[in-house]
This record gives sequence, C-alpha cells and structure tokens, in this order.
Amino acid sequence: MFKHQFPFFANKPEQVYLDSAATTQKHESVIAAVNNYHSFSNATVHRSAYAIANEATQLYEEARTSVAALIACNNSSQIILNSGATESINTIAAGLHRDMLQGEKILILASEHHANILPWQQLSKRLGMSIDIVHLSKDGQFQQSEYEAFKRQLNESVAIVAMAHVSNALGNIYPVQSICYLAKQVKAISVIDGTQAIAHLPVNIEELACDFYVFSAHKMYGPTGVGVLFGRMELLENLTPLKLGGEMIRHVSFTDAQYQAPPLKFEGGTPNISGVIGLGAAAKFLSANLREIQNHEKRLYETLTSGLLQIKDLNLLGNLNPSGKTDVCSESIGLHSFVLKNHNLHDLAQLIYQQNIAVRVGHHCAMPLMQCLKVAGTMRVSIACYTTEADIQTFLDCLVNAIQQLKTGDDIKLQKIGSARKLGKQLDEDTKETANLPIAAKIRDAKGWDNQYRQLMLASKHLKILPVELRIDENAVFGCESELWITWCDERLCAYTQSKVVRGILALLLEKVDDLQNGSKQASTFDYFGYLTELNLSQFFSVGRKDGIQNAIAAIKNKLV
Ligand code: PLP
Repeated sequence: MFKHQFPFFANKPEQVYLDSAATTQKHESVIAAVNNYHSFSNATVHRSAYAIANEATQLYEEARTSVAALIACNNSSQIILNSGATESINTIAAGLHRDMLQGEKILILASEHHANILPWQQLSKRLGMSIDIVHLSKDGQFQQSEYEAFKRQLNESVAIVAMAHVSNALGNIYPVQSICYLAKQVKAISVIDGTQAIAHLPVNIEELACDFYVFSAHKMYGPTGVGVLFGRMELLENLTPLKLGGEMIRHVSFTDAQYQAPPLKFEGGTPNISGVIGLGAAAKFLSANLREIQNHEKRLYETLTSGLLQIKDLNLLGNLNPSGKTDVCSESIGLHSFVLKNHNLHDLAQLIYQQNIAVRVGHHCAMPLMQCLKVAGTMRVSIACYTTEADIQTFLDCLVNAIQQLKTGDDIKLQKIGSARKLGKQLDEDTKETANLPIAAKIRDAKGWDNQYRQLMLASKHLKILPVELRIDENAVFGCESELWITWCDERLCAYTQSKVVRGILALLLEKVDDLQNGSKQASTFDYFGYLTELNLSQFFSVGRKDGIQNAIAAIKNKLV
C-alpha cells in the first residue's frame, strides 16, 4: 500500500526486501527533504545569521519539533539529535554519575542489542556496579511468567533498568509502560531502546513515563547515521556530555567551560544537518500514517506466521502474537526469527538470496541471547510498511523450495544410485565417468550458479569429517559464519562445520593439499584463496563467509607447517 512511495522499489522492482529491521528503505519525502536542503539551503546551523543559515537552522529545528510530535513529547528541548541509538545509549551510560543513582544493579533483558549491553558493562566497571539479566523462555518468548520474574527482579537494589521496547532479534514487544512505572517506584532510571518500535508502534513518552527513550532514523524510513535521545530534563541537566567541542558551550576559557542547556549541550560539533532534516520528514510520514501502517503490518505478520508454522522443520523463536491481541505480554511486531532443524541457515540463505530476497541470518548483534537460546544464529524476516502480501508469498514459496533443495542435496547421490538400481542398471555412464574425477574438475566443468552449488553439495560428502570429540576450542576456526573445526585425525586433515557449502569448499581445499603434498610441492605456502577464485567460487562468498574461508585457509596452512 505504501510501496509506490519508496523510490527504491521503482528502481529495483524485482527485489523482495524483508530485512527492514536492519535498515528500512527511504520514504520519498525523506529523499526530497535531504535533496532540497543540499540543493537550496545548504549552510551550517546555529552559528550564522545570513539568510540560508537561518533557513538551515529553521529546517533543523523543525525536524526536532516533528520528532517531538512523533513521540508526544511536549518540550522539544528534551530531544537530542545525534548519530543514532548507539550514540544515545553511550551518552547516557558515560554521562551518569554516582550521585544520580540509587541502587547497585543494572537490569537488562537477555535479548538486548549489543548497543544496550556494552555501554552498561563500561558503566558497571566505572562505578563498581553489577549487571542482572531478565531471562526469556527457552524459545525466546516473553510471557506472563517472564513478566512476573521481571517484576520480582526490579527491586530497590536496581539503579538502572535498560531494555528494548521491541527486540531486534525476536520481534518481542515488551511491556515498557508497566516496567517504567515500577522502575519509578523503586527510584531506578529507565532507559528504553525504541529503535525497533518507533516505525511500528505508537510511542507516547508522557504515557510511558520513561527517563530516556532512544532510536535511530534509518529504522524508520529516514537516513543512516542520525538518531534521537529523549531524556527527562532534570536528568539531561545533570548528565555529563559525551562530545565536547563547537556549539555545545556557553563560554570557554583555556581552563574551563560552561555548557549550553539541553539539547545543544549534547550536540557538540557540526551535526548531520541533512540527516536530521531527513529524520524530520520521516517523523512526519510516520505521525501521519502509523495507524494504517500498524494494521497493514499486522495482517502481513499473520500471513507470514501461518505460512511459517506449516513448515515442520522450522523452530520459530520469540513471541508469536501480533500487537493488540493481548494486554501486556506475548506480542510481536512484524518480525519472525527462526532456526531450521539439521541444516545450516547460511546454506539456506544462500539459496534464498539467489531469488532476490533479502533476509538476515546471524546473531543480529545479540550474541548473549543466541547463547541463551542455544543457537548460533537465526534467520530473521522483518516486515515494513512497503512489504506486500506478494513479498510474503514469494518468500514462503522460496523458503519451502530452498529447504527441499537442501534436503535433496543430502539425497542427490542416493537418489541417483537408487533409481539406477531400480531400473536394474549400472550407474549411468555420465555418473560413472565423473565419479572418479577430482572435485576441482567437476567444479570447473559445472556451468552456472546452480550447477556449481550442486557440485559443492556433492563435494561436501567427500570431506573427512572431524569426530565430535575433536570439535573443541583448540581446533576451532574463529570468525566464521558457522562453527568450524579443523585438525589432524588418523594422519589426515579433517574438518567439520554444519554448512554444507563450506564443507564442499573444505573438501576441495583438502583435495588440493593432498595433490600438492603428493607432488612434493609446498602445500603450506600455496595461494588457496586465489585457487578458489580461479574456480569461480567467489560468488558463494558473502563478506562473512569470505572472512571465514580465509581463516580456514590460514588454519589449514598452520596445520601443515
Ligand atoms: N538497538 C536496537 C534494538 C537495534 O536494532 C539497533 C540496530 O540494529 C541498535 C540499537 C543500534 O542502532 P544504530 O546502529 O542505528 O545506532
């Protein structure tokens, strides 16, 4: 319904974009606002009095007002404009001092984004505090029992409760209003990370009564590198600013300085003016359309949920109810996170990416959560206002096919042998001929992505698999998308990873090691990555996978010297 308002899709009509939790596409009004500023009003803000400088300052301050209106904040001086949620949380954690805090503990949820964990680790070290975790169910759900446990943990010993309004990894909507109320009762400071909520749920800062609320423009149809820190005025007045420099001061001598009042106190340096103006346009778009967006996303989420629930090998994580169904817990925004039994998600994603579908696989900057859920990562599918029923259907069809393809990948060889036997024949000449060919030759002969993919799947069966007892830290190769171990076993280099594509690549690499050693060439100095590139395999390397393969090559070389 909103798709035509996003120029990206006119330029890329074939793209199915289901990674809006990572960043959203940009609304036409945002692009126009940024462009107009650069084309007609480009000057810096708050410093000069000539016409375009006034114009720029006015546009910048209007954006602040639009952001305040979006979150129902009636004093725009409480809206600090900065580079995003990460900077906002860092500003809070670095700026708090002991006499602003009552208790000893920082309470966070198990599903927090790293941006809402690391700054608290620093603060806890600086002030000698401890961090307590509120846990989710084993499937990542936050329901009544988790809420009750949360309430018990939120007692007088808590100085700060820092939590997302919505989890970026799971989509869970948390009952922040009740939590902020309880936090106030025990005099704890509440910090709400609204980054994943702001484009999907109405946010009313007065009703929430939180102390801080933060978010980033790029998750709400605005530009990257710009965001918001809302704070209660007396806290902002006491908070030490993080960025010291131009325009955040009232008076400076060589030995001392007096700062401006908020918000300028926190906006040192030349700000991202065009970004802020774009953010203002995004805030206006959301204020005007949020109800409609919410209903639209809810409908799509229901289609997505029922489609995913029909796929029996998936394990869906997190809350599964759309927003508005219950009063406090168990709701989700239009986002699903899941794992696939017995198969590697990166292998699955590779097949999905081939169909121009963007989804995200990984830990979603929530590594501690992945440890709690005992998964290496999840596949995350996230909906935005421009998502259509057709996008969801295309994704579901593609997912079913990809899973089928992964499963048949397991059976390709068996099927061939099986059907040949059934027909009372030997394996066909073709298979017989190629059966003894080196993996490299088969990959070189395979034309096109599909055939190379199939050859890698087949090659994966030739890898000498490392026994489970040797899959230990000592043999681990770090920095890979999936867990990977390589070491010697029975005088052969063996390896294991759940990814079949990577197993295929390893089989190819170890075949080359054998060749070089048999030919008494230097196996430990050979350019294996160049070899893979020459075989045209770089099309299988995402940025993450490329790093992993390079680490695996380094590990192999290490074992050879
Ligand atoms: N918090 C949450 C819940 C997020 O999803 C993200 C980004 O993924 C962040 C914080 C960090 O946002 P940014 O990188 O824009 O600062």
